[in-house]
Amino acid sequence: METQIYQSNQLNIKTCARLLQEGEIVAFPTETVYGLGANAFLPDSVKKIYEAKGRPSDNPLIVHIADKTWVDVVADFVPDGAKKVIENFMPGPVTVVLKKKKIVPDSVTGGLDTVAVRMPDSKVALDLILEAGVPVCAPSANTSSKPSPTKASHVYDDLNGKISAILDGGECEVGVESTVIDFTGEKPRLLRAGGMALEKIEEVVGEIEVVRGSTVALCPGMKYKHYSPSSEVFVATADENAVGRMVAFYEKCVSEGKKAVVIAMEENARDFDQNHFYSAGKSYEDYARKLFSLLRQSDDDGYDIVIAQGVEEKGIGSSIANRLEKACGGKFI
Ligand code: AMP
Ligand code: MG
Repeated sequence: METQIYQSNQLNIKTCARLLQEGEIVAFPTETVYGLGANAFLPDSVKKIYEAKGRPSDNPLIVHIADKTWVDVVADFVPDGAKKVIENFMPGPVTVVLKKKKIVPDSVTGGLDTVAVRMPDSKVALDLILEAGVPVCAPSANTSSKPSPTKASHVYDDLNGKISAILDGGECEVGVESTVIDFTGEKPRLLRAGGMALEKIEEVVGEIEVVRGSTVALCPGMKYKHYSPSSEVFVATADENAVGRMVAFYEKCVSEGKKAVVIAMEENARDFDQNHFYSAGKSYEDYARKLFSLLRQSDDDGYDIVIAQGVEEKGIGSSIANRLEKACGGKFI
């Protein structure tokens, strides 16, 4: 199969929407990361997503909608907390998990009786879904276990020949996936830290349960390997000695003949070898936007080792910390 790349204009959005209606799978930009979409009502199309990504079939997909009123098309019941999130934060980088309607196929939800719903804050994504006229289920448009794609070229590198089309809308603004909150239990529960700060959501819905350091997967997606480039990733725990430890670890790698690169905040740039340094930018927002792209860059540049600066777990920092932890597989320095 030839994978077509379409620049995002109205004509191409129409073409991609028609492909979705016809049962093809299409990668499209959102504000978080690129998604790999299928018409959520066509189980055979949904299966193509799992095949193209090499994704385990029990890892459910998020259903993307173009209008808040569409929540009721896929969800059986919307509790008050979820209503507040929908009202205050959609469109945006937040996903609510609700009891599903029968109309949502099992292939979308990995056999669960719940459905994850999100309205992306991206004009291209919303235009595409509106034009398709159906909810579009989508995971991130990468090969399973690789860093999520934040540019059309990342999608192409992973999925060329496996999907019909990529709608190119430029670089994603947020850069990490959505915050996922489960509203099907007694109390709202965080399933995945993401682009919307938990603290902001709690201001509107009250306390959200966070299970930290749990070895039990709360939802299917949590048990799988994630965000790994080919290079080996090490993360420096965020404390006052982090930069010193990174410098020492970098020198040790080099002395062992390994090719290593450092990812750190711009303010620490002068402490590192400029020839092997990727700036994470000036803020956690910058770091989130750049992280996946830099992990992919380390492979393109042929590094054996990435030494990444850890972050404090507050605001969007929580989602960066989560992605870093998964990318390094627990290898902290
Ligand atoms: P991604 O894996 O990047 O495609 O994002 C989809 C993620 O949303 C999954 O891995 C789950 O963590 C979460 N998710 C989707 N649907 C559900 C659901 N019904 N229940 C719980 N989590 C879900
Ligand atoms: Mg993913």
